Amino acid sequence: MVDLNTLPRRHYTTGPTPLEHLGDLSMKLGGPQIWIKRDDQLGLTQGGNKTRKLEFLIADALAQGADTLVTAGGVQSNHCRLTLSAARREGLDCHLVLEEDLGPDAKPVPAEAGGNPAEHTGNFLLFDLLGADSVEVHPHGSDLIARAENLAAELKGRGKNPYIIPVGGSNATGALGYVDCAQELLTQFAEVGLDVSSLVTPSGSAGMQAGLIAGLHREGSQIPVLGINVSRTQEVQEHKIVGLVDEVASFLELPPVPRDRSVGLGDYFGTGYGLPTPGMVEAVRLFAETEGILLDPVYTGKAAAGLIDLIRQGRFEANDTVVFIHSGGVPGLYARAGAFA
Ligand SMILES: *Cc1c(COP(=O)(O)O)cnc(C)c1O
Repeated sequence: MVDLNTLPRRHYTTGPTPLEHLGDLSMKLGGPQIWIKRDDQLGLTQGGNKTRKLEFLIADALAQGADTLVTAGGVQSNHCRLTLSAARREGLDCHLVLEEDLGPDAKPVPAEAGGNPAEHTGNFLLFDLLGADSVEVHPHGSDLIARAENLAAELKGRGKNPYIIPVGGSNATGALGYVDCAQELLTQFAEVGLDVSSLVTPSGSAGMQAGLIAGLHREGSQIPVLGINVSRTQEVQEHKIVGLVDEVASFLELPPVPRDRSVGLGDYFGTGYGLPTPGMVEAVRLFAETEGILLDPVYTGKAAAGLIDLIRQGRFEANDTVVFIHSGGVPGLYARAGAFA
């Protein structure tokens, strides 16, 4: 078994993120006791789950002598914001390859065409403030990885040494951030004396969930990690989670992880990635009004909508303890203000 402490790592957060009890929300929903892991309070610009992945990814980039990062995502990508923030911290160049969001209300107009002030908000605004070395926006459905590879080749031709970080930072290296988080959570559960029945987490590029599953398995924990998909059906997403869990397990030389540990529910993303749903709007309002906690519209809002629905369906016992992972993303809320009007 590979010891995480022997792997190259940068540190972007001081200490563990808080684990908080949401007493009022638990009472209001009349279900299990809900606790929240505040990974929205991780380090780098405005925090969020990509910070944990980047501790391992950036260390790998630096170990390879990279001076430039290239990564990809949507126009409101939290991953791109945090990769750029890490680049600023480390003195690296950073290039972003972006894809337009789905939906007519979220169409960014490129700067050459005059730009759209309404879109200069949320993470897209932060790409500008953090001084990305280049930002390109491609039509929805473009092959971002192919473009990132071409761009990296061009940069190499100009004498740079680029390192490509995949969408969402979700490869085995990035997922190590959540193997580490699993350990952090188990330590906190022991300190507080919590007997946790389930973790509930958004599931996107699946690095967070796969890391948590592999990390818990590594510690011999049986706590299930219930993923709520943000863009894919259950079958497609579970295939993705399983693949990444296997990669992480083999990288860390862990015993095989049973397939049924990888669960991603496909009932809560609505009509597509990033597109608002009534459940998301209700969940964002409920967490804000009840606990003063902001969720985001793309990931945690939809995951919380899933949690609320599962509670209403009686999926948990009243004396269960459920831990919801708040993976960040709040800057994206401002780009979806229209959903709350
Ligand atoms: C990327 C992201 C997720 C999903 O994490 P994956 O590892 O891609 O599944 C969840 N929440 C927020 C806020 C994110 O930015």
